[in-house]
Amino acid sequence: MGKLFVVGTPIGNLGDLSPRAVRALEDCDFIAAEDTRVSLKLLNHFGIKKPLVSYYEHNLRERGEQIVARMEAGETCAVITDAGMPCISDPGEDLVRLCAERGVAVEVVPGPSAAISALAVSGLSTSRFAFEGFLSVKRNSRLEHLEQVKNDTRTLIFYEAPHKLLSTLQDLLTVFGDRRISLARELTKIHEEVRRTTLSEAVGWYTENTPKGEFVLVIEGAAPAEETPPTLEEAVEMVKSLAQGGMSLSDAAKDVARQTGYKKGQLYKAAL
Ligand code: SAM
Repeated sequence: MGKLFVVGTPIGNLGDLSPRAVRALEDCDFIAAEDTRVSLKLLNHFGIKKPLVSYYEHNLRERGEQIVARMEAGETCAVITDAGMPCISDPGEDLVRLCAERGVAVEVVPGPSAAISALAVSGLSTSRFAFEGFLSVKRNSRLEHLEQVKNDTRTLIFYEAPHKLLSTLQDLLTVFGDRRISLARELTKIHEEVRRTTLSEAVGWYTENTPKGEFVLVIEGAAPAEETPPTLEEAVEMVKSLAQGGMSLSDAAKDVARQTGYKKGQLYKAAL
């Protein structure tokens, strides 16, 4: 049985191809590439000569079967895409699923991903985030998508093409209101730029300046909803349920008083 290597490639700067990725590409039997012409440039740069098969959005199903059959017969395959990590808004997910179903081993050779790179330099909260990929080109689906995530308190990450950037920013401003945004453009390339601003200012800027290059949008999550404090009746119920669980009424009243701000004596008397 062969093996699949999921190999991350640079998102711009060729210096980001790791030595381990070079070895995986040199050692495999064949490479499944999203666009063989793009990958050939990368392989030529590193002096790697390897048979290539194209594996992209429109031939995933039949080509995936052929690739898995070759691995079942003992060959090793490296899957790569035009830039970044395969499987992340790029081909690869289906192939990994097929391998898992058919018992073919899969090994990852991690490389850069635009989403994580943009998040890291955004200056926004990185502790919890959601990757939302590309928004649909259809306006209704786009707005529906944004409505679904507008109350999410996690930092949100979107990929966007330059020709759609302005209308996307306008939709984001309409649905989310004015929030902080970090626009990461052309990461690791000559014109790398990170614009940390607000949605309204970004709309203004890109109305005046035509967006160029590849963008990742990192947007501040929604402000957490303020918790409404429990009513006195609810607090008394909390005391009773703690007491039913075996706590003394006095301790239960003390505990709930600490949590809710009501007076211990008031809770104790009401619960009696
Ligand atoms: N699989 C890739 C990854 O792991 O980053 C993403 C592929 S997706 C088809 C391409 C999108 O990634 C672009 O439209 C852009 O939003 C983002 N992207 C890729 N390279 C980038 C770069 N150097 N700077 C900023 N964004 C980039």
